[in-house]
Amino acid sequence: MEKFKSFSLSSPPLIFLSFLFLSSLSPISPSGGRRHYNESLFDATLLPNTSTYDFIIVGGGTAGCPLAATLSQHFKVLVLESGRNNQDYPQTATEDGFLQILADASSGVANSPAQSFTSLDGVSNIRGRVLGGGSSVNGGFYSRAQPAFFEAGAAAGIVWDMGLVNASYEWVEKKVVHRPKLDIWQTAVGGALLEANVRPFNGFSVEHLEGTKISGTTFGPDGRRHSAAELLGYAKLTNLVVALRATVEKILLDIHPGGLKKPFAKGVMYRDSLGRPHYAFLRPQGEVILSAGALGSPHLLLLSGIGPPNLLRPWHIPLAVSHPFVGQFLADNPQTGVTIISPFRLPTYLSKLVGISNSSSFYIETSTKNTPLHPQISAASPILNHTIASLFEKVACPVSTGSLWLASADVQDNPVVKFNYFASPVDMGQCIEGMRTMAKVLKSPKLEGFKFPGVFGGKEFRYVGPEMVRDEEDDLQLEGLCRKSLTTFWHYHGGCLVGKVVDSEYRVIGVDSLRVVDGSTFAVSPGTNPQATVMMLGRYVGSQLTKEKWTPNRFAAGKKR
Ligand SMILES: Cc1cc2nc3c(=O)[nH]c(=O)nc-3n(C[C@H](O)[C@H](O)[C@H](O)COP(=O)(O)OP(=O)(O)OC[C@H]3O[C@@H](n4cnc5c(N)ncnc54)[C@H](O)[C@@H]3O)c2cc1C
Repeated sequence: MEKFKSFSLSSPPLIFLSFLFLSSLSPISPSGGRRHYNESLFDATLLPNTSTYDFIIVGGGTAGCPLAATLSQHFKVLVLESGRNNQDYPQTATEDGFLQILADASSGVANSPAQSFTSLDGVSNIRGRVLGGGSSVNGGFYSRAQPAFFEAGAAAGIVWDMGLVNASYEWVEKKVVHRPKLDIWQTAVGGALLEANVRPFNGFSVEHLEGTKISGTTFGPDGRRHSAAELLGYAKLTNLVVALRATVEKILLDIHPGGLKKPFAKGVMYRDSLGRPHYAFLRPQGEVILSAGALGSPHLLLLSGIGPPNLLRPWHIPLAVSHPFVGQFLADNPQTGVTIISPFRLPTYLSKLVGISNSSSFYIETSTKNTPLHPQISAASPILNHTIASLFEKVACPVSTGSLWLASADVQDNPVVKFNYFASPVDMGQCIEGMRTMAKVLKSPKLEGFKFPGVFGGKEFRYVGPEMVRDEEDDLQLEGLCRKSLTTFWHYHGGCLVGKVVDSEYRVIGVDSLRVVDGSTFAVSPGTNPQATVMMLGRYVGSQLTKEKWTPNRFAAGKKR
């Protein structure tokens, strides 16, 4: 920070030179014909040591891409993404690739598009580390948020413009969301959910509707994924630079002369894949926006000296702003359920159907995953046919929360994370209710065709892992199953909650020119699956910021830092 004290943020020659330099670089993947957002992607090694922008967005993920596309219409925007281009990874393009993404991350394959971490609860998990973030590695399920999500935001002070919320969802959906067809397994489960009283049947809808529905998907009819990265297709490319393999290590803070006002963000320091440091600075009235996700954003605040002093001291990180709630109220929705072997081969088909309980306290989804064996082996022995079908429950709004803290002062090391699954009996109660419903689903005649002949006659499911309980009225058995089958839905959220770390307009409380816009701001997981609302939020905040800051003369008059 000292080194750049004399740097003038409004130095016109430097700004001019940095854009001149960028326009002479070759993009990572040149494209012919119509202009493609690939033209704005650069490996960070190609970028200058210093540069200036109106907005610097940390994280080219699910929220960061729509935010950048929106802001680039009127402002110079730099996105810093620590991962590579998602197009470099064939496994991110298809549903079949989902298993490989999980396997590569958990076996620590270098440069894989996701990074694994295991919470102190002992549950292994992953986070996207690629352009598009979680939306490039996830299951593709797309569903808008429930009223309780917006109510929780309003209780924390957000004055939602619901017209803009809906327009923002539509903006996302136009580009990346598709209407799926159900395969035979999900069709059967849909019927079974109705028989288990998860009613009514709502047909296809991206709205949050109690009952059973088919939802949107980011996988198109040709099976190809459309991640948040494609929302960059809306961007004004001449205003946008997306730096890949650019890992932000620190937010650069400064204080106003005299130190009477709040400290402010003046830029960030990031490192490219060769280990070279770069400094990106803000133009006057510009902002740094963290969209690094529920782990990445609180992590970076801590590394920059914004957080609880006792969490910074062990790593000798100078305290910039004491902030007791950074990294707190971190939650993950427990996933519990059962997996059976299908008696016949089915393609990998991720979840497209959901049962939403009457009180929206739990959701049930399902998928099939196929591990191809040699066709002759499969034909000879259905037992060796590795198509597995899973039914899984999400506890909708866990009240149990945990936190994260630093494992080291190195941004490359995951923070230490603890979610405290089922610490509250309320969460266990909801899990039990969901598993009871799942037991009824499995009893439905609609699923008879997925059973094998039983050893003692009749037909039965072949389970992989924990089996469904015999008596669905026995809460103790159901609780045991909740604990035994516990894993993650990968919908972790929190760490920078609205009203605690950021204000109702996502500004970091106590620091100027710094916001957080991503899943770390959520107190409640939005809807059955969060990506719809994370993308919506990027567009929504981008639109509001544009309204607040832009005039034909670029920045709105009188909006001073
Ligand atoms: C395996 C899996 C399956 C899922 N399935 C679904 C599903 O089917 N439907 C659904 O709705 N949701 C699903 N989710 C959840 C959803 O994808 C996430 O909630 C959402 O993507 C989070 O968005 P975000 O913008 O908060 O963070 P992210 O999308 O994770 O974006 C953060 C980005 O910041 C980058 N970053 C972090 N730190 C730094 C740094 N210091 N410098 C530079 N860049 C940095 C990361 O590389 C990442 O690209 C799933 C998630 C996973 C992991």
